[in-house]
Amino acid sequence: MAYNDFRMDNQWLPFTPNRAFQKDPRVFVGADGMYFTTHDGRQIIDGISSLWCVGAGHNRKAINEAIKAQLDTLDYSTAFSVSNDKAFRAAEMIAAMAPGDLNKVLFCNSGSEAADTSLKVALAYHRARGEGHRNIFIGRERGYHGVNFGGMSVGGIPANRKVYGAALLPRVDHLRFIHDPVNHAYIHNQEPVWNEDILLELENRILPLHDPSNVAAVIVEPVAGSAGWYIPPQGYLKRLREICDKHGILLIFDEVITGFGRLGTPFASDYYGVQPDMLNFAKAVTNGVIPMGGVVCSDRIYDAMMGAHGSAPEHAIEFFHGYTYSGHPVACAAAIATLELFQQENLFARAGEMGPVLGDAAHSAIKGLPNVISIRSLGLAVGIELASIPGLPGKRAYDIFLDCYHRGVLVRNAGENLVFAPPYIVEREQIDTMVNVLADAIKRHA
Ligand code: PMP
Repeated sequence: MAYNDFRMDNQWLPFTPNRAFQKDPRVFVGADGMYFTTHDGRQIIDGISSLWCVGAGHNRKAINEAIKAQLDTLDYSTAFSVSNDKAFRAAEMIAAMAPGDLNKVLFCNSGSEAADTSLKVALAYHRARGEGHRNIFIGRERGYHGVNFGGMSVGGIPANRKVYGAALLPRVDHLRFIHDPVNHAYIHNQEPVWNEDILLELENRILPLHDPSNVAAVIVEPVAGSAGWYIPPQGYLKRLREICDKHGILLIFDEVITGFGRLGTPFASDYYGVQPDMLNFAKAVTNGVIPMGGVVCSDRIYDAMMGAHGSAPEHAIEFFHGYTYSGHPVACAAAIATLELFQQENLFARAGEMGPVLGDAAHSAIKGLPNVISIRSLGLAVGIELASIPGLPGKRAYDIFLDCYHRGVLVRNAGENLVFAPPYIVEREQIDTMVNVLADAIKRHA
């Protein structure tokens, strides 16, 4: 099939029903601020920050100019045994923003790479301290940590895992999901309350199965993003921190979605007042403009890894890991400009202010509509779960996504959920448009 002047059948689209797409192509050719321009000349509101990335909105001149200037100065340099000025500055800014003693940044190129990097750091750290037997990871049901083998293994979205069976990491267990469908149906800018049972599940159910002294790390998204924006119960993350500390287990927060302002704070760690041992980031760090990810590790982890090499010759590599594009100067220039822009325009605070506006609008327009099972809003994001069509999982949300697209709004369908997570620059009228278009589509697909 051809469309305009290019073929449409050579790109195998990621996470997309490709056969259906060929019949109803949705192609962007431009973007500015809150809007995309489509191949047929229409404007579409970016209701999802292009998959949680574009916090500052599209086509930000300061970021574009920084990238162009970097291309003209130092286009690329390897990061192995040499480095570049922008990588150090970007790391300095990220470390300054990250909580507590999270000061050592390992750069990579995506959230998936960040997940696998953090799991490798955990194993290497324990081994460096003479506890190489700690090789079990604990993730959570419906968690998402990307599509590489480590992240997929600790992740808990069945569709992401089921084809790969025995190829997944062997020593992994999962905490149960953090949503009580009865009592947490409507959550708006509050932490749901649940019983001690779920707060102590790690201690009481999971760890006894494995012997805590064999567990390397627990990895969770502070708020479950890809599952559809599910908010942890009050005290949940604090309890994970306490239990991990008690047993010498590392705690990894995957902040690929929650990092850089989505909750109105730099990180979810700040919002919840809980510091992990490693914090994974990607997406909004460059406003999505250039791929970048990373893991911020605590000084304690770094020092242990370096200390373990005390007697080894100095030319020996302490952590045998890295990517050709780790700390790419163009990506780092984009990150520096993005973080400066967030600061100059006070955009995290703006996300914090607009969050309740989005939540209010979604709850008042959508609560009570046919098939609506739950609405959860926190920070500048809201997830809406709908009853599935029997025998056709995900179809209702997918059809509603298509309907909204054709009416000028990009919403994210994730299983039975629809999610909004707009750029932090979003205006009230745009929120109203997004929510009303979605409400009408939900009614049409009743
Ligand atoms: N972790 C989380 C929490 C994510 O939301 C995502 C992407 N949605 C990833 C990891 C994977 O990131 P990427 O697609 O950049 O590999």
